Amino acid sequence: MSTQTHLLLPRTLLIKSPKKIPPSKQRFTITSNQLIHGRKLRAAVIGGGPAGSCAADALACGGIETFLIERSPAGAKPCGGAIPLCMLNEFSIPLDLIDRKVTQMKIISPSNLTVDFGKTLKSHEYIAMLRREVLDSYLRSRAQSNGANLVTALFTHLEVPGSIYDPYIVHYNVNGSKHSIEADVVIGADGANSRVAISIDAGDYKCAIAFQERIKLPEEKMDYYRNLAEMYVGNDISPDFYGWVFPKCDHVAVGTGTVSSKQDIKLYQRGIRDRVRKKIDGGKVIKVEAHPIPEHPRPMRVRGRVALVGDSAGYVTKCSGEGIYFAAKSGRMCGEAIVNASMNGKRMINEEDLKREYLKKWDEKYITTFRFLDLLQKVFYGSNAGREALVELCGDEYVQKMTFDSYLYKKIAAGDRWEDVKMVFSTFGSLIRANIIGQETAVFIALWGAVFIALWGLDILGRGEVGLVGR
Ligand SMILES: Cc1cc2nc3c(=O)[nH]c(=O)nc-3n(C[C@H](O)[C@H](O)[C@H](O)COP(=O)(O)OP(=O)(O)OC[C@H]3O[C@@H](n4cnc5c(N)ncnc54)[C@H](O)[C@@H]3O)c2cc1C
Repeated sequence: MSTQTHLLLPRTLLIKSPKKIPPSKQRFTITSNQLIHGRKLRAAVIGGGPAGSCAADALACGGIETFLIERSPAGAKPCGGAIPLCMLNEFSIPLDLIDRKVTQMKIISPSNLTVDFGKTLKSHEYIAMLRREVLDSYLRSRAQSNGANLVTALFTHLEVPGSIYDPYIVHYNVNGSKHSIEADVVIGADGANSRVAISIDAGDYKCAIAFQERIKLPEEKMDYYRNLAEMYVGNDISPDFYGWVFPKCDHVAVGTGTVSSKQDIKLYQRGIRDRVRKKIDGGKVIKVEAHPIPEHPRPMRVRGRVALVGDSAGYVTKCSGEGIYFAAKSGRMCGEAIVNASMNGKRMINEEDLKREYLKKWDEKYITTFRFLDLLQKVFYGSNAGREALVELCGDEYVQKMTFDSYLYKKIAAGDRWEDVKMVFSTFGSLIRANIIGQETAVFIALWGAVFIALWGLDILGRGEVGLVGR
């Protein structure tokens, strides 16, 4: 197999052939990191979605020699494109990239009980809807203008070095011809079908499949969705997820997803279309797209000097299917971790650095949230009775406030303890009415829930970062 180096790459990236060792047999036990002479630490980021672009941006800003490999910069990731308000500030996203500011949200039960879910939003609050082609291209260009080298290429595989001092060899194709570069550290940001994860034997995760049609509506129908998003739940739409209608610039995205019954995804798509038929009648399908959504973090997210971020690591919340913010955030956290551990590219880094500076900090911040939303999905999305209970509960203004505050700002809202206790009881009230759990079990769990919240309020248990919708 002939291997060509990329013509644009500096000498430091030319290849020598290290001894190959299967990833699972690698052991990296270095304790003090060597200084690098005559050059900076070299990082290859695979995948130029939000995770990869934000990682590359942080690396390049921190003085690391950064290569961002993206197979199709002009492509559009299949996605609803909803992002929380805090992401705009945190990632300095220009407001003119936003297609729609959603200030109204309806959630519709299997029996068509409809609840207005955005009643507690303040006048300056909204969910931002963007097209991914617009957002991704902006984030990638920013990384480039901060010094990352964008390589338009298909990453094929990673050669793992035999020692802690040797580089990784990153192989990729440009228009069918083979190239490779050396890198000291690699970030896998190549999404749910991550080849980087395969290259380091990171293990598998369960995936949902999400299906979406972009439908251009007649003007008067589009007007209805001007600032409105809808979520539909029911066995007709998904056995374990929800269906959505999200407004875009001149069209709506109508979609659904499922983990347990992927072969029936088109049936469920017909289900959501049937439910919204009157509102989208006369519309024209302009695009059909589908993509996997990870269900859990991967068993392994760091191995050697390789770290996974975003969908590649499995950072999508259950219940809401939210992944854009977590992709950008994990990419940035991982990039900054490498910058810190390498003292702005002056020292080599190792597996322990990545685990301490990136993985540990990520898990401390978000793992509780992911587990909590996993639990909610099991309770509320498993049956039509559970879904009716969910919609009923969403009618409660306190539940709405806590949910939106957590979703929009990605930090726990200062709640009211008594309202928290009432929320626990009304949750179980809804579950009893929907026959999800028996009365005695509910009272028992609710009492314990109330005690937990009271202790939590006294700061005896400390405060986690949880909310009903993703963060
Ligand atoms: C239908 C659908 C709707 C969704 N709606 C929402 C929503 O409304 N809000 C939300 O927050 N989340 C949503 N998500 C989840 C969200 O899309 C993902 O969590 C997010 O895109 C993850 O970003 P990422 O950068 O990790 O991966 P991706 O966005 O998947 O980016 C990976 C990048 O890597 C590139 N790549 C892949 N393989 C290679 C390779 N071999 N070589 C080179 N480049 C490669 C790809 O081209 C891509 O640009 C939705 C997902 C789906 C499927």
